[in-house]
Amino acid sequence: MINQEVIAQIVDLGVRPGGVLLVHTSFSRVGPVEGGPHGLIDALLMAVGPAGTLVMPSMSDDDDRPFDRETTACAGMGVVADSFWKRPGVLRSNSPHAFAAIGPHAADITADHPLEVPHGLNSPVGRVYELDGQVLLLGVGHDADTTIHLAETMAGVRYRRPKYAVVWNGAQAARVDYTEIDHCCQNFNLVDEWLDAGHRQRRGVVGHAEARLAQSRNIVEVVLERLRQNETVFLHPPGVDVECDEARASIA
Ligand SMILES: [Zn+2]
Repeated sequence: MINQEVIAQIVDLGVRPGGVLLVHTSFSRVGPVEGGPHGLIDALLMAVGPAGTLVMPSMSDDDDRPFDRETTACAGMGVVADSFWKRPGVLRSNSPHAFAAIGPHAADITADHPLEVPHGLNSPVGRVYELDGQVLLLGVGHDADTTIHLAETMAGVRYRRPKYAVVWNGAQAARVDYTEIDHCCQNFNLVDEWLDAGHRQRRGVVGHAEARLAQSRNIVEVVLERLRQNETVFLHPPGVDVECDEARASIA
């Protein structure tokens, strides 16, 4: 498939030229496309245009070594995300929970990124929300949608899981223990029906993958509404998986 077709698919889905676009993707689902992962990135950049800002997750998934935004691989988010941060002109937040961005808002989006509240309003996903950005899921579901963690943070959910990271403390590598709003995240897929019910999600195909597009603000709004009714709406019942059990235990 040539890139012109992929660009057309992205534009048809409703991606706004000149907007802020946060993309989560699984290339094994989207491809093959001409140019491989970089061909897909090129198509996304063409779709948002020169006035647009493209954002992707760029976290290390390595808790045992200090994060270096110049060299640390993005190990767990797929080949597109790990190709994106290495491109000329792409900026990356200075956090093991890093996001990367290019475009007029890239410096703002990748500025402050606290370790212990990685997905609050003062974080890359928070600033995509503030800038009224769009969230594009290519070949992945809402279980990969970090903006839902933003909504959990804004809702003030009480559940946490223990986490740690190794950071530079001067010249010394030092372990930092903290707790983070987290669980297995499978039930983030509930957000599909919440968005679909209000016609606040566009669905289509990009490359060979199922694609979903929503406004960050709409994702946050539907999630805040559900979390207000039920703080544990995303947590599995006890005994299903360790992550949700840990989250439940933290508020028991
Ligand atoms: Zn679970």
